[in-house]
Amino acid sequence: MKFGGTSVGSAQRIKNVASLVKSRGKNIIVLSAMSGTTNTLVEISDYLYKGNLAGAKETINALESKYKGVIDELYSTPEYKAKATEAVHEHIDFIRGYNRPVFTVFDEKEVLARGEMMSTALMYMYMREIGVNASMLPALDFMRTDKNSEPDVEYIQSHLQALLDENTEADLYITQGFICRNAYGEIDNLERGGSDYSASLIGAAVKAEEIEIWTDIDGMHNNDPRYVEGTSPVSQLHFEEAAELAYFGAKILHPTCVLPAKLNNIPVRLLNTMCPEAPGTLIFNTAATRSIKAVAAKDNITAIKIKSGRMLLAYGFLRKVFEIFETHRTPIDMVVTSEVGVSVTIDSERNLDAIVDDLKKFGTVTVDKDMVIICVVGDLEWQNRGFEAEVVNALKDIPVRMISYGGSNYNISLLVRKSDKINALNLLSRHLFNQ
Ligand code: ADP
Ligand code: ASP
Ligand code: MG
Repeated sequence: MKFGGTSVGSAQRIKNVASLVKSRGKNIIVLSAMSGTTNTLVEISDYLYKGNLAGAKETINALESKYKGVIDELYSTPEYKAKATEAVHEHIDFIRGYNRPVFTVFDEKEVLARGEMMSTALMYMYMREIGVNASMLPALDFMRTDKNSEPDVEYIQSHLQALLDENTEADLYITQGFICRNAYGEIDNLERGGSDYSASLIGAAVKAEEIEIWTDIDGMHNNDPRYVEGTSPVSQLHFEEAAELAYFGAKILHPTCVLPAKLNNIPVRLLNTMCPEAPGTLIFNTAATRSIKAVAAKDNITAIKIKSGRMLLAYGFLRKVFEIFETHRTPIDMVVTSEVGVSVTIDSERNLDAIVDDLKKFGTVTVDKDMVIICVVGDLEWQNRGFEAEVVNALKDIPVRMISYGGSNYNISLLVRKSDKINALNLLSRHLFNQ
């Protein structure tokens, strides 16, 4: 059972989660940092990178007083108030200790890890105070990535199992999401939002019956509730559909989270901590067919077009183009081709100039920035008639830069301007879901 930042975002929410999990038996509880904490730790790191120690100090003090307030409200006994204060103090003091002129990415990872360490410490102690025999599984003792920064599945499995075997008496287990060690034993993390990934890796490692992602909304909605009113939860999604939605911007789920569950055939359920009785969304290898399920949008996309007059005769043209992206370690999201050229999209501008420079060897290059991929997901197997028409028709008044369909049975992607995103999402909800 994984609980996100909002779900553990205050003393009251921590109490709610404790009462929810304690009635559910011997589960592994994966926690994110309290909401806002990771952002604050990023902010502190930014000050430290810039050598602004005063800025860092002020932000650290504000973080500390926030946690003091939580402790005051959460615990009822002086014993646990003192224990929790000591634990939080230790983490805050560790961060305060960065007062040297040089601050590295390794230091930042150490700082970020403290968010999950604090939330789990608070939950663990609260459980103890209310008489639950909780056992802590330190993520840094089992969650590990290999030299390719991929999860070291065997290491995770064996080390987690060893920890569980040491504590068979426990009522339940608590661990940190997001944080891990890399292949060299240094503290690292699974990237922002990565607690979902932790939960899924843990579920896979212990061959769980189910992986539950508890958050602040009742499941995957059919459109992004931050931009569209009146969206509704989707009751079932295929693994592939959920993966497409997560990858193309549905923030509720981290994109990498689906794979471990899919490989091990473990259902993933998205549930709402604020409304535990709501059915949420079940993600598994079966789901309703012949329907469009949901829409998502991925921001910060750049489109690159390479036009080559000789493409028809030039076999190997695409390989050369793709090799350039590979050299610059930049993944491509969308691809469309014509006889004379190819358009692709990327979601990072980090190597854009170098990529464009290299592409110019093969043709005329045009770049469109500030674009958004709108992704429509469902059972879009090609023999199903009419779905593409409905999608394109819904967006008939919006300029569309690229359309991609047929790459999988589950999605149609359209590239539009960032300024048209909200309008496009709303039009799709209205046309596809009558909302
Ligand atoms: P947590 O902190 O629990 O990991 P997140 O903030 O990462 O929670 O994800 C939940 C949020 O995702 C929701 O509050 C909602 O605003 C956003 N969201 C974006 N797209 C969707 C969608 N299609 N369905 C549900 N929530 C979505
Ligand atoms: N705390 C981390 C973040 O804010 C990880 C997570 O919440 O999933 O990104
Ligand atoms: Mg999240």
